[in-house]
Amino acid sequence: MRFSDFIKNCERNEVSLPEAILRAEMEETGVPKEKLKDSIAKVFEIMMKEVESKYGKKQRTLTGMTGFNGYIMSQHIPRMIGEFNHIAMVAALSMAESNAAMGRIVACPTAGACGVIPGVFFALKKVKNASQKELLVDFIVAGGIGWIISRNATLSGAEGGCQAEIGAAAAMAAGALTYHFSGDAEKCGHAAALTLKSMMGLVCDPVGGFVEVPCVKRNGIATQIAIGAAEMALGGVGSVIPFDEVVDAMRRVGRSLPESLRETGRGGIAVTPTARKIVEKVKSNNI
Ligand code: SF4
Repeated sequence: MRFSDFIKNCERNEVSLPEAILRAEMEETGVPKEKLKDSIAKVFEIMMKEVESKYGKKQRTLTGMTGFNGYIMSQHIPRMIGEFNHIAMVAALSMAESNAAMGRIVACPTAGACGVIPGVFFALKKVKNASQKELLVDFIVAGGIGWIISRNATLSGAEGGCQAEIGAAAAMAAGALTYHFSGDAEKCGHAAALTLKSMMGLVCDPVGGFVEVPCVKRNGIATQIAIGAAEMALGGVGSVIPFDEVVDAMRRVGRSLPESLRETGRGGIAVTPTARKIVEKVKSNNI
């Protein structure tokens, strides 16, 4: 299944993008629509409950390298970005720190990238007063985009680098945001493509192998890329390269990344002098 198949199904059957995604899922899994919607709603409820409870809180993470960034940003009065972007950033940092603190998260699409989607959904709820019903529909769009990436490339940092985790999460978020404001399936594909192209080649280089640095802050920053890409797509700025082809390119880039840049902690920022010192310190504290 490709994104272009979703578009064709939307046109052929005169249905919305989320409906086409649900139908494809029903076809693949054999699960009836109401049951599917129930399980999506359950996951969504957990995600929103967790982001509400962790938003802007200090958290105790395994190594102490993170755990305070969501709090710090929540105290900052933004001078450049607006309320929507600020809330999305704080929420994403808070959820990624919850993951690092062994809190309950929804892997969206992975644990390391679990902040981006709740980040933008929380902003939609708080700033744009999006209803639960609207958000659930947007969430299905996010899921459909993730599904396309998982089938035609990968969602694993160990396989494709961080472009496959936080890059995919940001593309899912951008598609969902675009659907929320336009209901336009083609524009959702453009938003996802613009996002993924902007994060292509992003390496996976966690310091000490812990999903904290650079993961937590990447979640926060990825919300801004997703929001920017969605705004562009909504404004009519399209991706010259269609989303499906961007996904293919991302798969090829992932395969050409050396092992040192795919979650081994043996490349990128993980081997900087500061990272090495931190790892020594963490080890000597027997963490
Ligand atoms: S750097 Fe690696 S471990 Fe961290 S979020 Fe990205 S893919 Fe996951």
